[in-house]
Amino acid sequence: MDERLRIAPCGFFSIDEKGFVMEVNETFLEWLGYEEEALIGKHIESLLPRGAILIFHSYFFPNINLYGCVEELFISCRNAGDQSIPFLLNAKSREWGGQKVIDCIVVQMKKRMDYEIELRTTKRRMEEAYREQEQALAKLKQINQEIEAKQAELMAINSGLLELSHTDKLTGLRNRRFFQEKLEEQVQLYNQEGTDFSLLIIDIDFFKQVNDTYGHQVGDNVLVHLANVLESYTRPADIVSRFGGEEFTALLPQTTADEAKMLADGLNQAVEQSVWEEIGSLTVSIGVATFTAGDTETSILVHADQALYAAKRNGRNRALHFDEIN
Ligand code: GH3
Ligand code: MG
Ligand code: MG
Repeated sequence: MDERLRIAPCGFFSIDEKGFVMEVNETFLEWLGYEEEALIGKHIESLLPRGAILIFHSYFFPNINLYGCVEELFISCRNAGDQSIPFLLNAKSREWGGQKVIDCIVVQMKKRMDYEIELRTTKRRMEEAYREQEQALAKLKQINQEIEAKQAELMAINSGLLELSHTDKLTGLRNRRFFQEKLEEQVQLYNQEGTDFSLLIIDIDFFKQVNDTYGHQVGDNVLVHLANVLESYTRPADIVSRFGGEEFTALLPQTTADEAKMLADGLNQAVEQSVWEEIGSLTVSIGVATFTAGDTETSILVHADQALYAAKRNGRNRALHFDEIN
C-alpha cells in the first residue's frame, strides 16, 4: 500500500467480492484499535453490528454489483472494545489481476453526529423557550383582562360612592353638596353664555308643630312625601335638593324670573292640594331669586332666603320673588 494512503486522514480497506478483508490502512486500524493481522482475511461482517450486516446485504452488495460503487453509506463498525463507531463509507469495485476488488474509504461521523445532536437540542430548547414565551404572554393577557375587570368594578364602586355622596339619605333627593356643584355650573353658564336661571328655597310652614304634635317619625314621613311632591311637580331639568332640615331648593335652568315665580306658585298649590294622610294638611313658603349680572353663588342664595322670610312674614303658604320685595 502507498505510504500516503496508509496514513491518510481517512480509513481505507479493500475487500474481495465475497467480503473478505484484503488490505487495511493504518488510520482505520487506529480508529478501531486492531492490529493488521487481526483483520486481514476476516470477513467484513465480523466488524459490523447486526443492523449493519443487514444493510450490507440489502444495499452495499446489490449496489456494488449493479453500479460498481456505493456513495455516502452511513454504517457503524465495532471496535476492539466492542463499541459501535459510526462511519460514512464510499466504495468502488475494480478488476485487479483478474480478481474483483472493492476499495472502501470511511470517515468518522461522531463529530458530525455530535453537531447534529447539539443542533437538535438547541432547536428543542428554542421551541421550549418559544412555548414558554407564548404561555407567559397568554398569562399576561389574562392578568390584563383581570386588571381591566377590576378597574371597571372599581369605577362602578366609585360612581356608586359618588352617587351616595350626592344623595340625601332620608328623602333620596340630591343633597346640599350636589346642589352647590350645580349652582356653580349654572353661574358659569350664565357668565359664559348669559343663560338665565332661577332658584327656589322651599321651607315647610310650622314644621316644628308637626314634630311636636305627631312625633319625629311622622315628621320624617312628611319630609319624604314632600320630596315626592317637589320631584313630580318640577320639570326633568330642574334640580331639587334637600338643603337641610325642612328646607329644600330647586335650581331652575333656563328659567326667567316670571317663569320661576309661576312655577313656585304652582308648587304652593301642589303642596297644599296633596293628601297629607297623617297630618291633614301642609303648606310651604317659597323664596324665589333669579340670577342677574353682578350676582354670585352666595348673593342669589341670600336673595332667595330674603324672599323666603318675606313670604313667611306675609302669612306663609306663598311664594315671593326677590324682585317683589325691593
Ligand atoms: P316656620 O314656618 O317659621 O318655618 O316654622 P318651622 O317650625 O317650620 O321652623 P323651625 O325652624 O322653628 O323648625 C324647623 C323644625 O324642623 C325643627 C326641627 O326639629 C325640624 N326638623 C329638621 N330636620 C328634621 C328631620 O330630618 N326630621 C324631622 N322629623 N324633623 C326635622
Ligand atoms: Mg326652616
Ligand atoms: Mg319651616
